[in-house]
Amino acid sequence: MNATATSATSGAAGAKAGGVPGPSRDPSIDEGLALGLSRLTPERTEKTIRDFLSGEVGARLSTYLDTCVHCGLCAEACHYYLSHDNDPSYSPVGKVSQTWWEIMKRGGRVDPQFIGQAARIAYTECNLCRRCSMYCPFGIDIAYLVGLIRRLCFKLGVTPKYLQDTANSHSATLNQMWVREDEWIDSLQWQEDEARDEVPGLRIPLEKEGAEIMYSVIGPEPKFRTQLIYQAAVIMHAAGVDWTMPATPGWDNSDMAMYSGDYELMGRLKRAHFETARRLKVKRIVMGECGHAFRSVHDVGNRWLGWRDRPTPVIHAVQFYHELLSSGRISIAKKYDEAVTFHDPCNIVRGMGLHEMGREVARALVPDLVEMHPNREHNYCCCAGGGVINCGPPFRNTRVEGNRIKAEQLAATGVKTVIAPCHNCHGGLEDIIHHYKLDMKIKFLGDLIYECMDKPWEEQDAGETA
Ligand code: SF4
Ligand code: SF4
Repeated sequence: MNATATSATSGAAGAKAGGVPGPSRDPSIDEGLALGLSRLTPERTEKTIRDFLSGEVGARLSTYLDTCVHCGLCAEACHYYLSHDNDPSYSPVGKVSQTWWEIMKRGGRVDPQFIGQAARIAYTECNLCRRCSMYCPFGIDIAYLVGLIRRLCFKLGVTPKYLQDTANSHSATLNQMWVREDEWIDSLQWQEDEARDEVPGLRIPLEKEGAEIMYSVIGPEPKFRTQLIYQAAVIMHAAGVDWTMPATPGWDNSDMAMYSGDYELMGRLKRAHFETARRLKVKRIVMGECGHAFRSVHDVGNRWLGWRDRPTPVIHAVQFYHELLSSGRISIAKKYDEAVTFHDPCNIVRGMGLHEMGREVARALVPDLVEMHPNREHNYCCCAGGGVINCGPPFRNTRVEGNRIKAEQLAATGVKTVIAPCHNCHGGLEDIIHHYKLDMKIKFLGDLIYECMDKPWEEQDAGETA
């Protein structure tokens, strides 16, 4: 380990010494888990497990459980295990042995205390990042097994409060941030006004039927990251894209229901998203820089609905930017002023293989791309994904201390900027950078494109001023 990486690690120790409590493994610190557990009876628990095993899961679960030879080769794939000094209870197989193996051994007769521990493991100690599957000689999908524990806990009514609140907001308002319809439109018009100060004549088209592209974002963008909508509008304008955003619910492509285990709600949300695109008769959906939303819209939600294919083609922002750059629809006027490293988000890299495309976009923008190690599909997760960051403050320390290995990986690059084309990764890396006192900042690809692209209107302005 180099000197910088050592200081990253000692930063963690310092944080503890400074009085910040370490990770809690007591599920009762979370109001939602505690309330759900207080309502469980042995009869209800056993019946729910029995119904679940006979009605919802089948050969895939038993094949995985029967195939595992307990070799432990998956252990070192997991950032929680590595970051907790190889504590086997954080290993992928350890998570399965503490949950499914016990449930099967006890014939489903488990008590609330057991369910509480299973919920804690499934929701807060696994990002469903799927790195471990790559190291299992049999390709056992441990994220699938952990996801099934979440689904079971959801059916038992035992879910973390913050995660459940987010899913409830999405259920009630069709966006996870409880943004009212008028607030949504107002936020878009506000960003249009702001951007028109920079780019005369720019529009954020709303409800444009038959547009080439519907651009969709996650719920937090109009609340906390409106600059991303601004930047997207400038990029679309510069590229001359025929695009629109919906004015109605259905614009939020995020999905905490997928992670809470509420698949019925996940299906309803994906249906609303695709129905919005169909109503607008757009040719494609372009999604902003979010990984979990892409997993939900592109892969999981539509398949859970039983659709043969996506009703409207969907691409991620990385693919879209790549298209705009390689076709010459936007050109780059200058390079970003320093070397950067590139974080591979699990959902668009292990899930979709966009690692080279992401790098090609980044290389067009930066003077030097320094790889972190391991990288591409072997990269370590940000530890925010899988809904873990959405489990909120009670489990913050579980998350940041569960990814000391990421802090070491970032520090070892020696650069001060990391690109992460995913919202969850931004949240996770921000916390890790802060907790381990790394001198780094995080950027979206869109931030750099906006900063570095050719803006013909600026030359025009300069000409007029001269
Ligand atoms: S966090 Fe990732 S590597 Fe660890 S057990 Fe979960 S899916 Fe596997
Ligand atoms: S590597 Fe595969 S077979 Fe070995 S313990 Fe892990 S899940 Fe089981």
